[in-house]
This record gives sequence, C-alpha cells and structure tokens, in this order.
Amino acid sequence: MTATGGGAEPVLDVRDMRVWYGTDRGPVRAVDGVSFDLRPGETLGLVGESGCGKSTIGRALLGLLPESAACDGEIRFRGQDLLTTGRRELESLRGPELGMIFQEPLTRLNPLMRISEHFEETLRTHAPRISRDEIRKRSIDTLRRMGIPPTRYRSYPHEFSGGMRQRIMIALALVLRPAFVVADEPTTALDVLVEAQIIGILADLRRNFDTALLLITHNLGIVAEACDRVAVMYAGKLAEEGDAREVFTTPRHPYTRELLRSTISLRTTGLHYIPGAPPDCVDPPTGCRFHPRCPDAMRMCRDQEPEEVRTPVGSRVACWLHGPAEKVPDGGTQPLVREEISVADEA
Ligand code: SF4
Repeated sequence: MTATGGGAEPVLDVRDMRVWYGTDRGPVRAVDGVSFDLRPGETLGLVGESGCGKSTIGRALLGLLPESAACDGEIRFRGQDLLTTGRRELESLRGPELGMIFQEPLTRLNPLMRISEHFEETLRTHAPRISRDEIRKRSIDTLRRMGIPPTRYRSYPHEFSGGMRQRIMIALALVLRPAFVVADEPTTALDVLVEAQIIGILADLRRNFDTALLLITHNLGIVAEACDRVAVMYAGKLAEEGDAREVFTTPRHPYTRELLRSTISLRTTGLHYIPGAPPDCVDPPTGCRFHPRCPDAMRMCRDQEPEEVRTPVGSRVACWLHGPAEKVPDGGTQPLVREEISVADEA
C-alpha cells in the first residue's frame, strides 16, 4: 500500500515484499505482498495480532532476517534496493542510515560495559577517526534529549530503571542520526507513564531530526497518539492503510473494526474479542484470510482474494465490501453462514 501523505520523496519505498520461513511443515508465508512507503519525518504504525508478520517486516527492512528466511520484492531506501545490496554495504548502512530500537533493552545492553563505552563502540564503528571529545559531546547531547542527565554517562546498565534503559537504547539508535528507524514494541513491559514519555520522545525526534519511523506495536493507543499513518496487518497481508485518525474514526476493513472494538480504553463498558485465532501461515485460508473470523463474510470471500482498492479519502483497503462491483459474481455477496466455513479455515 502506498503513502497517503504528500511532500518530500519517500525515504523508504517497499513494494510487494514477501518473506518465507522454511520449516519442516513447509514454507511459512509470514509476509505476503506488502507495499508501503515512508517520508522523512513521518511515522507509520504497523499493527495487528501476534504472528501477523509485523516484526518480520521490521527485520527484513534492516536485513536482519534469520538464515531460514527468504525475502523478495523491493525495499528501496533513498532509491537503493536493499535486497540487492551486498552484506558489507548493508552493515555499513545500519547505524548511520538505518536504525533499530528493540524491545527488552537489558538484553541488548552489555552489563559489563558503561553507557559511555556503548556510545564509544557505536560511534567508532561508523566513524573510526572521531575524537573522544566529540563522542562525549554527541552522546551526552543525545542522552540529554532523552532526559538522561550527563552525570549518568559513566554508569552501568543495571544502575538504571527499565524506562531509562529503554531511553538509552533509543539514544544509541539515534546518536548517528539515521534517516529511518524501526522501533519494534519499544514500550512493551514499561508502565504507562514511562510509555507516554517514550512516545513523546519519539515524536520530538522526528520533528527535530526528520527521522522516518516505523513503529511496530500491538498497542493501538500508541499509534493513535504517535503516528501519522497506520497499516493494519492480518496473516501476512495488509488489510488497511491510511491516515491514522481517519482509519481509527472510520475503519473500513472488518478486521480493523474488530481490532478497535477489542481495545480497552477508559470508555470501555464491556469486553470484546475477535472469535477464533489468526490462521496458520503454512496453509492459510483461501480467499480472504480473515473470512473464517469475519462477521461480514460473504460467499465470495471464501474463494476469492480481495483486491486492494483506494478509498475516496486516499486510504487503501483489501476487502470485498469495498471491492470493484463488477468483480462481484452473482450470489457472491450472500452472507457466508457458519456451516460453510470449513474446520481447516477455522484453525
Ligand atoms: Fe470480511 Fe469478506 Fe471483507 Fe474479508 S473480504 S474482511 S471476509 S467482508
């Protein structure tokens, strides 16, 4: 799916990305034909249930997939296709151009190294001739922007709270001022106050540095607060993509609608959940992958994969409710009754 915003050229342009993992049971089609783009200073939230492929996309963008995975399509960063870029060159882009903020900061920070040493290592890898003074200046400046005082520069990771460690991780990802950053569940396991702080920091960063940010999360509240656009994924495919406010106030895809209904907020009066579970991506359902769980499923949804269409407000949706009318065969729009859904589909 394509960006809806105008302005500058996309810093990242992903076309028809597919990722497979080899398993004993056959290839797991974790990402299946996903396209989107991202402009400088823009934040795109990537949401969906666990296993929908969102973290795989983040890793594929930075060339960090495991050996068992294969990826095709196009991943253009400033026009350069990263999928055909050599390993060495890709490594040299990671850090100064492409950044990543992981979850679980404690496992990413070396407990035997001071924070200052982490910064020295990061900066020297990409700028071997940088002076000690310059390292200190840049590191402390970045840490200060994250709310970490200079007095803590020589502390060890265990001397910080979880929230501070995550802010240090963000500082490490940003000290080289990358043009594009993937943040994979950056606030998981943090309390709501620290979470709000980190979201505020990410918003400042893109404003100050024009960084394009892909925010991977299952938390729709964070997306509503921090993202310009949102892409909703289901079983390796994009269900809907568009302006975050528009998608959240007028969801067009039934999965987006159900996902929003399942989100707990202060106004929640009753619990809602989406019946069933996401499908096995070794053998996904035919037609629309969401049809075994979709309250609006029609007969045609079982057999024909919906085409992606652009809505009048510029977002995109892949659902037969919004499909081209001429493609709908006779009787195809009849509701799909539960008895017509096979056991395999419901798995
Ligand atoms: Fe539901 Fe059919 Fe739309 Fe899929 S294509 S989301 S099954 S209505």
